[in-house]
Amino acid sequence: MTDVFRLGDDLGPAKVIHVREPGLGLAAVLVVDNVARGPSIGGLRMAPDVSAEECFRLARAMTMKNAAAGLAHGGGKSVLWGDPRMPREHKERLIRAFAHALRNEHDYIFGPDMGTDETSMAWVHDEIGRAVGLPAAVGGIPLDEIGATGWGLFHAADVAARHLGLVLEGARVAIQGFGAVGKHAARFLAAHGAVLVGASDSQGAVVVDGGIDVAALARLKSEGRPVGDYPGGRKLDRESILDVACDIWIPAARPDVVREDNVSRLKTKLVLEGANIPFTPGAEKILHERGVLVIPDFIANAGGVICAAMEYAGATQAAAFQAIEEKIRANIEAMLASVTERRILPRDAAVGLAVARVRAAMATRRFGIM
Ligand code: NAD
Repeated sequence: MTDVFRLGDDLGPAKVIHVREPGLGLAAVLVVDNVARGPSIGGLRMAPDVSAEECFRLARAMTMKNAAAGLAHGGGKSVLWGDPRMPREHKERLIRAFAHALRNEHDYIFGPDMGTDETSMAWVHDEIGRAVGLPAAVGGIPLDEIGATGWGLFHAADVAARHLGLVLEGARVAIQGFGAVGKHAARFLAAHGAVLVGASDSQGAVVVDGGIDVAALARLKSEGRPVGDYPGGRKLDRESILDVACDIWIPAARPDVVREDNVSRLKTKLVLEGANIPFTPGAEKILHERGVLVIPDFIANAGGVICAAMEYAGATQAAAFQAIEEKIRANIEAMLASVTERRILPRDAAVGLAVARVRAAMATRRFGIM
């Protein structure tokens, strides 16, 4: 168990649980990182190469994300060993058995992650009643369908643009990844007068200087066609989205897409990180030195987790949207105030904000010593 001790620090983990059921082939780990702000929420990841160490890192990331989002929830994560594409009956048996084993672990609320989805969460809900990201049939808010994360990105854009003296009406936007996050961000921004000049997917990019009709592009994608099929404009390879001159650049696809070796290609004033860890720390630092404002992932893309927490609280879709708007705007304002006052990177300011919130909560607890 030295491994576990080596990975701990003064914030957590609060609890680590290893679940094993050899008869079923079940091997899984739960890490509850910190619950000072409330029961932890975090995804259940299913993959053949998951590790306890990865679970520790992801649980800490959730502590930071939930605190930064201003939620009354701590951070946790669980990993289940196995191929998520295994026959459905076997997957269901494993997930139900894991949930059942954690039936008394009230410090952890399951959510979907890589290898699990809303159906998996419905199984967990059926077993123990403690899951978010549920199908509408059992009280879920379909966050990707309604664009919860895109709604948050729009408000992040609005607050950050005001800070820069940039007017959203007429601002030129380029989006990498026109999926659940990217297309809704485009929709809300366009509704407020911004102009989508470039969009990409895994197969290519389209650039239209006069602006893309967002609804038409979304329709085309929903038919299973690539963005390159958009009529008119220039068709380019997917990497070319990096070169599109714009005011706002939104990565909403994959991790590590902008690094020290390609960051010089970006020609923008503001970056909103829709994807998780899309930029390396070095690339963020270079942009900061160039005067480009980068709103970090766990602040900018928190709309999804805020929506999930509201779903757990039994809120309506409209109340969830209201909470996303209020929380994201307030958090970005607080982060930008700290950036200006302390002359630090936005990510460092955001982490500082999250850690301060966790420590303040820890100080109120029975064994709080911080
Ligand atoms: P998605 O699968 O719906 O969309 C991803 C899009 O990116 C697709 O259009 C795909 O074709 C495109 N893509 C893949 N590789 C690409 C590449 N190399 N270049 C350009 N485009 C590429 O996924 P999503 O739910 O929109 O999530 C996107 C990112 O945002 C992920 O990193 C995810 O972890 C993160 N995220 C999602 C949410 C959410 O609410 N869905 C919340 C927070 C963070």
